[in-house]
Amino acid sequence: MNNALNGSGGPVPLMTALNTESQIHLIIGTNSLAASRCAKSLQTGAKPVIIAPETADVHFTLAEQIANGYVQWTRREFQEDDLTSLGREEIDRVVDMVFVTLSGNHTQGVEISRLCRRLRIPVNVSDAPELCSFTLLSTYSDGPLHVGITTSGRGCKLASRLRREIGAFLPVNLGSAIDRLGAVRRRLWEEDKAAGLCDLAIEGDDDDITGQRHTFNNLVTEGDSEAAKTRRMRWLSQICEYWPLRKLVSITDEDIDTILKAYSSGKSDTVVASGDDIISKKGKIVLAGSGPGHPDLLTRATFNAIQSADIILADKLVPAGVLDLIPRRTEVRIARKFPGNADQAQEEFLQMGLAALQKGKQVLRLKQGDPYLYGRGAEEFEFFRNYGYAPVVLPGITSAMSAALFADIPATHRGVSDQVLICTGTGRKGAAPNPPAYVSTQTVVFLMALHRLSALIESLTTYHVDEQSRSRQLWPKETPCAIVERASCPDQRVIRTTLENVCIAFEETGSRPPGLLVVGASCHVLHNADDQKWAIEEGFHGLDELHNELDTVKVIGEEN
Ligand code: SAH
Repeated sequence: MNNALNGSGGPVPLMTALNTESQIHLIIGTNSLAASRCAKSLQTGAKPVIIAPETADVHFTLAEQIANGYVQWTRREFQEDDLTSLGREEIDRVVDMVFVTLSGNHTQGVEISRLCRRLRIPVNVSDAPELCSFTLLSTYSDGPLHVGITTSGRGCKLASRLRREIGAFLPVNLGSAIDRLGAVRRRLWEEDKAAGLCDLAIEGDDDDITGQRHTFNNLVTEGDSEAAKTRRMRWLSQICEYWPLRKLVSITDEDIDTILKAYSSGKSDTVVASGDDIISKKGKIVLAGSGPGHPDLLTRATFNAIQSADIILADKLVPAGVLDLIPRRTEVRIARKFPGNADQAQEEFLQMGLAALQKGKQVLRLKQGDPYLYGRGAEEFEFFRNYGYAPVVLPGITSAMSAALFADIPATHRGVSDQVLICTGTGRKGAAPNPPAYVSTQTVVFLMALHRLSALIESLTTYHVDEQSRSRQLWPKETPCAIVERASCPDQRVIRTTLENVCIAFEETGSRPPGLLVVGASCHVLHNADDQKWAIEEGFHGLDELHNELDTVKVIGEEN
């Protein structure tokens, strides 16, 4: 089979990256496709010219570009000599590219395509591959990196998905790493050339080399003075080929300087380090949520962060089941938070985290539930960012939503509840926050509220003696509610009752922190306390039962 042909026997397209700066692109049509072609042209530095009659419906983004003066609109039907009169002077006014975006008007498309081909003007007619001399690619860009995809017109939706998946696979900051490594390569080449060490042109300015030369991995002995001359260029080629992309993107200018000094051409030949040994690691921090309690409710991202951390700084509330997953070698600190010293405990933790980061460690700041819901997560983010260590933040399943779920309370339910409010029962410095007004179709979840339950219930159901306006709707005393404690833990407890009875129910049963209060008609959707003043449910085994089920399935599978 001819090498130039693809697997199905047909010719392959010539994929190119065109420099179209200052070119004139004719766009025939004014629909949404014309708008997106215009936007693409502008991005590449070209000048789009729209040709369409005055009466045409102009897509709104296009209208904006025309009004802003970015796009020129020639208000009439296309005519043949547009192709040879609207272009740049230096190429005898022939236009550089033509896009026909008229939906359904194939007769004109056929004609324009024929004219363009005769004049060798690249032409693209929408929805008519046979009339195109080129097609555009679905592209992913990150700085100097551009990835283009074509499915040869077989599936544009699939092309856009592939673009997204390729983009998601590539590490962030790859574009700037390419810039940085590119600059180093050029600098090395110039220095080596000035020192007479290399007389070759800089290699690989084109991106279309398919692989390394066969000499790439040749053995270089320490005494090989010829090879020693270009050692730094070789090192760069080697790391570009072998280092994991994630490691390449984390390389800093300082790292490069350190390595290059060690490899400097004038030095003795004894430098054999791979680069790994010399790079001083920069500390990294992950700020993650650990979910409400059960270790199965951790995200995989947080689980991975637990496995790879050097030091874990965990909140007091992080559940034991989660702490059990921490490898033995990993240093763990649990916040020394007790009533009255929350601020000091927080400060102590921040300083501990910072000290570890400055030693180049991988720090995991593990918080309960979700880090950004009543977890001071953003304060910590800001603290570390100010020192140049912006954390990677990973969400966690919040107790606010999952405790209700594990107590069989659907936060929203058709005809019953169409909104959810999450609030705290404790304001800053222990002050009581304003109680939310009654909304019959709302489910309200109160965190950090059980220690002042009676004051909270009182504020929901009656006006404060000093309350002036009295326009706030009070919650009816018969509103259903539930206290959910230690949600998703083996000793989970749910007390189902009403606002009227919740305080005595809680007083009688005692507290089992952490716990929260759910209020609203949704509490009665799946369980109705009937005539009882309250009902108590103990224990939670849902996830463990699931494990057992899975084991059973496996055993049956094995027997077969
Ligand atoms: N960031 C956490 C909330 C921290 S505030 C989250 O997203 O879940 C701490 C409060 O969360 C506790 O006072 C309690 O009201 C609630 N809470 C945490 N875990 C809980 C659990 N397993 N069951 C019930 N309430 C819980």
